[in-house]
Amino acid sequence: MFDKVIVPDGEKITVEGDELKIPDNPVVAFIEGDGIGPDIWSATQRVLDASVEKTYDGAKRIAWMEISAGDKAQEVYGEGVVMPDDTLKAIPEFVVAIKGPLTTPIGGGFRSLNVTMRQKLDLYACVRPVRWIPGVPSPVKHPEKLNVVIFRENTEDVYAGIEWREGTDDAVKIIDFVNSEMGKNVRGDSGVGIKPISITGTKNIARKAIKYAIQRGLPSVTFMHKGNIMKFTEGAFKDWGYELAAEEFGDETLPESELWEKYDGKAPEGKIVVKDRIADSMFQQILLRPDEYHVIVTPNLNGDYISDAAAAQVGGLGMAPGANMGDFVALFEATHGTAPKYSGLDKVNPSSLMLSGVMMLEYLGWQEAADAVIDGISKTIQQKHVTYDLERQMEGATKVKTSEYATKIIENI
Ligand code: NAP
Repeated sequence: MFDKVIVPDGEKITVEGDELKIPDNPVVAFIEGDGIGPDIWSATQRVLDASVEKTYDGAKRIAWMEISAGDKAQEVYGEGVVMPDDTLKAIPEFVVAIKGPLTTPIGGGFRSLNVTMRQKLDLYACVRPVRWIPGVPSPVKHPEKLNVVIFRENTEDVYAGIEWREGTDDAVKIIDFVNSEMGKNVRGDSGVGIKPISITGTKNIARKAIKYAIQRGLPSVTFMHKGNIMKFTEGAFKDWGYELAAEEFGDETLPESELWEKYDGKAPEGKIVVKDRIADSMFQQILLRPDEYHVIVTPNLNGDYISDAAAAQVGGLGMAPGANMGDFVALFEATHGTAPKYSGLDKVNPSSLMLSGVMMLEYLGWQEAADAVIDGISKTIQQKHVTYDLERQMEGATKVKTSEYATKIIENI
């Protein structure tokens, strides 16, 4: 089936009906990544394996299967092959994968490998949990109050890549059309982009977010949008979100308007409140009233901004995990880049990838092992054994290498 991938001894994760079937020894694909990737991946793999081993006493075990992209792919498949077919076949076939960062050359060369994977594998949801881990330095007084999961639509909006450079024939054509046929008044010397937001894209992300809130018993789902200005794209995103909640999850959800009309502001037991906030207000809200938000659903661009702003509030991108998901296929990843100047130095913070591994364990339903990793990371940070990036922000901390940090976490699990 594969050209160069070696499938390890383990069982496949399968999809049955609406559910994942997870064996005790699932095959999980990994891409170690470029730059600092190998350092943070080996630390992460050791911690995840140790947690699963200690938690289940050997009854469960991940069978890791290496697949490659970026620099490693060129070593294995030959020069110029940065995204092998094997990799694009293996991820959907084995359903769950995790990756380190990949280099995106600026201008020319090849396109972003991350974008290629998202598009080819239809990973329409970018999921970012943001919560504070005790001990991590934060710029706010109560970082523990923020505990949200952001569901960002990953395929549409101004990120769809439909745009024309100022002065080109295509730009002139579009401007002429919009001005003469649609009665608008776009300046002739404009660059132009198109912002598509569809019912399909919106309902896919909304469904995924609401299902997540139901599975975890969370109190609210909030649509973040700029619909007061962009009525037919962002405004429609909000409307379709409420529509989907009522159509598909009417028994489990309640729009915020009804909360006040019928229930005096107190949601009945087991009902998830569906609300919406204008994007600019959302930024204030996560700072001022963070504990009123649990799941935030956004179009692509808003999601990009709010994810990083929220992550900064709990200690920065070095600690922020993420995943790109389709209906079932999930690719967990570190949210930072390859930090090339630190390649091979055994120096950087592997927490982002480790916490993406925690998301992965949760996705497998191995919650106890996931909790044990969080606990191990938290204890290690509270003991002030941290990598250089946190050490410079913490008084009296001991600076440790990536691999030493992993060893400390394992001791603490
Ligand atoms: P970056 O690799 O994220 O690094 C920027 C800076 O962030 C680093 O110099 C370092 O700051 C800090 N940093 C990043 N990861 C860290 C870690 N694990 N521990 C501690 N500090 C960390 O961003 P970039 O330099 O803009 O991008 C480099 C390459 O990565 C580019 O090719 C870019 O396209 C790619 N990239 C890939 C992904 C992905 O695969 N998902 C995402 C973003 C970027 P200090 O030096 O100040 O300590």
